[in-house]
Amino acid sequence: MKKKILIIEDEKELISGLKLNLDFEGYDVIWALDGEEGLNKALKEAPDLILLDIMLPKRDGLEVCRELRGQNVTIPIIMLTAKGEEVDKVVGLEIGADDYITKPFSVKELLARVKAHLRREKREEKDTPSVYRFDDVEIDFIHFKVKRKEKEFDLTSLEVEILKYFVAHRGEVVTREAMLNEIWGYERYPSTRTIDNHILKLRKKLQDDPAKAKYIFSVYGEGYRFMGGL
Ligand code: CA
Repeated sequence: MKKKILIIEDEKELISGLKLNLDFEGYDVIWALDGEEGLNKALKEAPDLILLDIMLPKRDGLEVCRELRGQNVTIPIIMLTAKGEEVDKVVGLEIGADDYITKPFSVKELLARVKAHLRREKREEKDTPSVYRFDDVEIDFIHFKVKRKEKEFDLTSLEVEILKYFVAHRGEVVTREAMLNEIWGYERYPSTRTIDNHILKLRKKLQDDPAKAKYIFSVYGEGYRFMGGL
């Protein structure tokens, strides 16, 4: 079945350029010209991936992203940011975007990322472990949640993928490079710094005091070691 991609973007030329290329690659493309319409389509038309501009009429991209994650929409979201929107990128990742690409971008690069994110989703469908428990923590891979004591935290699709990778390699040192290859699916993107940001967010969900690592340990100059359940 064709994968459906929703483009939420107010620059019509950019949409038609993207649509042309995505059509050619065999995707089903739908689009919205403002944040409100985008949100509606994201909820009603069940796309497999969203390309989301930040500066949009009615509701901006950050709002749309936050709202979708709030409603447990876990599909990959790639933010399209303009130069100078560095702050927004960070906020975007914090509120649950999986990735971002800075305009002007090459279509080739964008297509590579779309493919990588969809491949990740597919891998998840194939071998979905359901729940992993350790101490008082429960990671629910089906519903994208971490439950701990009375608390419950939502996970983004990227966080789920990172945790799956950690669980599969628990006790081992995993390098950032290996994570980039296995989880992001391409070698040069994103910066290793981005991984560290995601880890920081995950720690906050897995433990009370994120300052002192309890399950995800940093291994200096290498990467990380996950010790949950060991
Ligand atoms: Ca715009």
